[in-house]
Amino acid sequence: MAYEGRVGSRFGGGGVASHSASNQDRRERLRKLALETIDLDKDPYFFKNHVGSFECRLCLTVHQNDGSYLAHTQGRKHQTNLARRAAREAKEGRNLDPITGLPQGMIGQQLIAPRKNLIKIGRPGYKITKLRDPVTRQLGLLFQLQYPEIGTEIKPRYRFMSAFEQRVEVPADKNFQYLLVAAEPYETVSFKLQAREVDRSPGRFWTHFDADSKEFFLQLFFKTEREERYAGVPGLAPRS
Ligand SMILES: [Zn+2]
Repeated sequence: MAYEGRVGSRFGGGGVASHSASNQDRRERLRKLALETIDLDKDPYFFKNHVGSFECRLCLTVHQNDGSYLAHTQGRKHQTNLARRAAREAKEGRNLDPITGLPQGMIGQQLIAPRKNLIKIGRPGYKITKLRDPVTRQLGLLFQLQYPEIGTEIKPRYRFMSAFEQRVEVPADKNFQYLLVAAEPYETVSFKLQAREVDRSPGRFWTHFDADSKEFFLQLFFKTEREERYAGVPGLAPRS
C-alpha cells in the first residue's frame, strides 16, 4: 500500500491508530499536491461562502475544505452534472464555432501544433456557383471553401476521383465523379459532379488559395459534348 515505508510506520505505536493517522497524512499530501496542480480560482463552480466553507455552484453542495471540494469534482455526481451541462450548451449552440460546430476553445488548442493524425475539426464552409461560358456555352462551377482555422504552412489540395475509385457510395455510379478537397485540420470534403471531362486548358481550370482571407477557389468547366466526342482527333477539338 502507498503508506508503507513511510518514516515512522515501522517503529512508532503501530496498530489501528497509526493506520488511520497515516491515511489522514496521505490524504493531506494528496490535497496539497492537487492544490498545487489545480487552480481553483479558474474553476467557475468553486465558491467560498461567507462562513468559510466551500460550495459547488454546479451541484449545489457544501464542502468543509478545498480538499473535500476537489475530491467532489472527481466524483460521479459532479462529473455527471458537467456532462449534462456540456450537452445542454452544445444543444443550445452556445460557445460553438459556427463553421465547425465544435467548442471554440478546442479549435484554438488544436491549432497550436498542427500535425498529421490530428483530430479533425469539421468541414469547411463552402459556396458553389454555376457558370456558363457565353461564347463556348460550356458549363462550369466555381467552388469557394472557407478555412478560417487552417494550419499555418498548409495549402488546400484537390483531386478528382472516379466513381470506381471511391468507396463511400456503393454501388459506384459511372455517371458521376468526385472532387475532393483536403486541408488540415479540416475534414476532407467531396463534391459529386457529373462524369464529364474537365477542360484543363489555361484560364478554364484554375485554383487559388488566398492566405489572407483563408479561402480556397477552384474553377472548372466541363468540355462540351462535341469536344468530348472529338477529343484527340487533330483539328476537330478546338481548345480556346
Ligand atoms: Zn459539483
